[in-house]
Amino acid sequence: MDKNTKLIQKTALPDALAALLPDYRVFAPAGENERLAFTRIDAQNAFALCLSGTPLMPPKELLFPRSETLYGTDIKTGDVSLPQTAGPTAVFGVRPCDAHGIANLDCAFLEKGYVDSAYAARREALTLIVLACAQIPYETCFCDSMGGGPAGSEGADVLLTETEDGSALVAAFLTGKGRAVKALWAAAGLLSDTGADATTKSANPAKAPPPCNLRISKDKGLAAKIAAAFDDPMWARFSEACLGCGTCSFVCPTCYCFDLDSENRGGTAEEFRCWDCCMFSDYSRMAGGHNPRPTKKERLRNRYLHKLAYFDERYGRTLCVGCGRCIGKCPAGLDIAAVIEWGGTL
Ligand code: SF4
Ligand code: SF4
Repeated sequence: MDKNTKLIQKTALPDALAALLPDYRVFAPAGENERLAFTRIDAQNAFALCLSGTPLMPPKELLFPRSETLYGTDIKTGDVSLPQTAGPTAVFGVRPCDAHGIANLDCAFLEKGYVDSAYAARREALTLIVLACAQIPYETCFCDSMGGGPAGSEGADVLLTETEDGSALVAAFLTGKGRAVKALWAAAGLLSDTGADATTKSANPAKAPPPCNLRISKDKGLAAKIAAAFDDPMWARFSEACLGCGTCSFVCPTCYCFDLDSENRGGTAEEFRCWDCCMFSDYSRMAGGHNPRPTKKERLRNRYLHKLAYFDERYGRTLCVGCGRCIGKCPAGLDIAAVIEWGGTL
C-alpha cells in the first residue's frame, strides 16, 4: 500500500479545510453557478464549499493578481518600500486544467533566466490541492486534447480523485508541500487507508475519470504549421466577429500579459501592474502612436500564435490547457479549438 495515498470522506471536507487554517490562507470554490469562485475560507464558511462545476475565474489570481503594487517610493524622502507577501496559501479544489495552467505560468515567470520575484514568492508559498473531474463540467472542456486530462496531476501537490461509490476521495500526496497537508489531515484524524489490498473491506478504488466532451485533434507539428500560416486570409475571417472585449484573456488560466503604471497614492509613488490583453487596440501601440497590430485581425492572430506557436517555440508547451472558458464566455462565439483543428490541416 502506498503510504502517500489515503482516503478522505467527502463529509469530512469542511473539517479538512478547517485543519489547514492554522498554517495557511485557504481558498476553495464556494458560491453557486456563475457566482462560483475561489473564496477565502475561514472557520465560519468552510461548509460553503462547492465541488460541482469550475469557477469562472481560474486560481491564477492568487499568483498573478489583477492589480498589484510592485514597490513604492516615498516622494519626500525617496525611501523605497516593498509590499509584504501573503504567506503560505493552500488552494483546495483546483481542477487539473487550472493546475496545468499554473505549470505554464511558471515557465513565463520563472524560467529562461528571468525570475519575477513577486510571482516567485507567491508560487513558493502556494500549495495546490487538485480535484480530478469525476464529471466533465462543461461542453467546451478539451483538456485531454492538450496534454492534460480530467485526472491530470501536473502542478498538483495533492491529487484528489473520487471513489467508485462517490462517497470519498482518494488523496495522493505527491510533493513535499502535499505531504505537509497530509500531516495536518492525519493529525486531525481525517485520513484512512485506501484499502488497496482488495481483500480488505475498505477497498474503495478511485473512479476512472471520463473523457472530455469536446475532442479535438492537435497536430504534432501545429506550432510550425500555424506560424507558417502568418499571412493566411483565415485570420481575417476568424477575427470578423471579435468585439475586442478581452474576456478571453481575463478568464484564461494561462494568459499573463500586464501593463505597468505608477500613481501618487498618499505621498508614495506606487509602481503597479495590472492585467492587460493583447486583444485591446492600445496593447501594442508604441510611443509616437505607431501600432504594429492596427486591426483586430493582427491582434487575434497574435493571440492565437502566441498560444499555439511562439510559446511552444520558447518553452516546448502549448499555452492553452483546454479549459474551454474562452470558448464558453466569448460573446462573439470565437473558438480556439476550431483554430487548433484548422492549424492541423495546413
Ligand atoms: S472574448 Fe471573443 S470578442 Fe472578446 S476579445 Fe476575446 S475573441 Fe474577441
Ligand atoms: S485559450 Fe481558452 S481554452 Fe485555452 S486555456 Fe485559455 S481560456 Fe482555456
